[in-house]
Amino acid sequence: MVGEVWLNKFLEDSHILPRIKIENFLLVSLGLRPCSLMTLPAELPDANAIGSAIDEQVFPKLGGLRSEQDPKKKLRLIDALKKEMRIAYEENVKGSEQYKSHKFWIKQLELRSITMSVRPTVEELYIFRDNDIGKRLSQLMKDRERYRVEARASVKPGMDKARFVYPEEFRASWLKEVGKILGYPDCCVEAYSSDRGDGRNVEARASQQLKEAEERGAVDPFTYSIGYFFPCSPSCGEAQTKGASYRKGLVELLPSLGELYDEFVAKNMERVKHQPEIIEQYNARAESLL
Ligand SMILES: [Zn+2]
Repeated sequence: MVGEVWLNKFLEDSHILPRIKIENFLLVSLGLRPCSLMTLPAELPDANAIGSAIDEQVFPKLGGLRSEQDPKKKLRLIDALKKEMRIAYEENVKGSEQYKSHKFWIKQLELRSITMSVRPTVEELYIFRDNDIGKRLSQLMKDRERYRVEARASVKPGMDKARFVYPEEFRASWLKEVGKILGYPDCCVEAYSSDRGDGRNVEARASQQLKEAEERGAVDPFTYSIGYFFPCSPSCGEAQTKGASYRKGLVELLPSLGELYDEFVAKNMERVKHQPEIIEQYNARAESLL
């Protein structure tokens, strides 16, 4: 583990979101979670500015694509556009001080990482400590790639778009292994994967459960131990225990981290409650940009 001087420097670094420092770096470094996952550039402090810079770089190239009628030329233009998006991502995300800070602290805290491209301008950053997790992650990423290739080859008209864009979300064994690696309780991972498999909306289910539970009485925010984690129920004992053990580990490292963590679990819980609206707003914005 890192010394106190370094820990203070880490906590002062404004290039990493405070929630990410705790959930994605320190909990992994403390051995309380095997691995963490963050989305780039969405979870960088300047995500909006970086996103706009990428849009500005890519937008001028969109005009020609809309007016092109020849399908072959259109495909070539799409390929060229993807390349442009990739370049814009490299320059604005990988070239940013914020990204470099993440990489610097991964090294300083003796952690490891894997980045995986999800779309031309979106990447996932997995942070972990043990080599064994790296091997399991690499296998998962290979499997995901294979599912996507297979899904693209079997697209049928009228098929639910998510099933070929994110086919891994419908593979229970894949979801369970990811859930395990991210340190989520088995019961919650089970609920998540069976919801996805049955076409139920996980975010809507979790939000509804939380609203109903709050009407019955106070909900323990520690159930929402990690951002974007959806527990099987607001009263899941496994999830509560995880949250409480994370807090304990953080307090042992530095007492002031306890209150900070309290703030994050409360925010995580609020986010789960409003996640369906957040997704709706995001989709509306994406539509308006098309
Ligand atoms: Zn659970």
